[in-house]
Amino acid sequence: MPIDRVTVRFAPSPTGKLHVGNVRAALFNYLFVRKAGGAYLLRLDDTDLDRSTAEFAQGIETDLAWLGIRHDLFARQSDRIAAYEAAADRLKASGRLYPCYETAAELTRKRNRQLAQKKPPVYDRAALKLTDEEKRALEAEGRKPHWRFLLADEDTRFVDLIHGETRIDPHSLSDPVLIREDGRFLYTLPSVVDDIEFAITHVIRGADHVTNTGVQVQLARALGAEPPVYAHFSLLQSVDGRPLSKREDADFSLEALRNAGYEPMALNSLLARLGTTDAIEPRQTLEELAAGFDISHLGRADIRFDPADLDKINAAFLHMLPYEAVMGRLGAMKCDLGRDFWEAVKPNLARFADVKDWARIVEGPVAPSIEDAAFAAEAADALPAEPWGPETWGLWTNAVKEKSGRKGKALFMPLRLALTGLEHGPELKNLLPLIGRKRADARLRGLSS
Ligand code: GLU
Repeated sequence: MPIDRVTVRFAPSPTGKLHVGNVRAALFNYLFVRKAGGAYLLRLDDTDLDRSTAEFAQGIETDLAWLGIRHDLFARQSDRIAAYEAAADRLKASGRLYPCYETAAELTRKRNRQLAQKKPPVYDRAALKLTDEEKRALEAEGRKPHWRFLLADEDTRFVDLIHGETRIDPHSLSDPVLIREDGRFLYTLPSVVDDIEFAITHVIRGADHVTNTGVQVQLARALGAEPPVYAHFSLLQSVDGRPLSKREDADFSLEALRNAGYEPMALNSLLARLGTTDAIEPRQTLEELAAGFDISHLGRADIRFDPADLDKINAAFLHMLPYEAVMGRLGAMKCDLGRDFWEAVKPNLARFADVKDWARIVEGPVAPSIEDAAFAAEAADALPAEPWGPETWGLWTNAVKEKSGRKGKALFMPLRLALTGLEHGPELKNLLPLIGRKRADARLRGLSS
């Protein structure tokens, strides 16, 4: 099929929060389409009205906006029921959608019998043999049909950009139920109808959908359409190798990560490359990530998500940001102390909000920590006159060293503790000119300043 315009979709069900696992589909689709040029559809798969909520839908949009993932098209499946009904009517007319009357208990009994006989628990298509009269009798009993798609008895092949050409043997599958007895559509038919009607060219999603794909390819063809190209990526697991779960891994929801102060581009940078053969490096924009993104570099092996990797890339991301990129944020936090301040403190940031602590260390008040008051006072006396610059620290500490005979840690640690109240922090060479003579003098004399 000639592709006029690449169109992809991210199709979350608004039945829960986005987390590091399921947001990868959003990101990969976005990077793919930005690189290829084309359209990105955000589709809310909300046919499960019992579990879908407006809050979850809103949460998904908030999370995507936070990551910078913008959509060109938007659809909500609950608005499109008429299209699914029209497709179901066509399938009924062509004999590919047939009514079944078994109750859940009857189906379970059948399955258990098959399992006991060591047969695959595939639906036996008993309903296909019902006469019209039998169907009427069942309906007169008050039974309502559910509807199954009649799978064609043929190998189903599709192109997968990660796994190569893939084959699904339909004999291993039950004819899938497309419509429940209460008339509601399950996920499969709406998904295929939408993929056709929105002219989706590439379906990029988790490997948990590979088996569905066999059914969806057949369904697309039964509706007279050529299926899209697929790419099924391996799922993320926890560090100890279990599937990520909403309950146990609540800390990995995007909302939780946002509240924990991670940078969206740090998360994007990690997720875009985790499980690929490419290096994981912080990038400032999704465009840069898209330029280096190649879906065929995604491997088939399991991938572990280690929050320590996120901490690492978050810090690396902050450390590379130029002052211009953060001025606005510093201003909004009321701690824009200028370019030199940002350059001085950024190597010490794990989270952006840490910058507030360093602004307070510069501006005060700092409660100095002083063990040897005589030494600290001697150091205060040796402070040079302003103006101060990057050379001031060296000049001053050399003078203090000569006067006191101290060197190394015995020289520097008491100065750091007096000036900042802390044992660790940014290089004092950079911090001292920002603290300035007045505050440095007071702190060395044991005064909070
Ligand atoms: N709503 C489905 C899900 O969230 C969409 C899967 C797909 O077709 O991409 O798993």
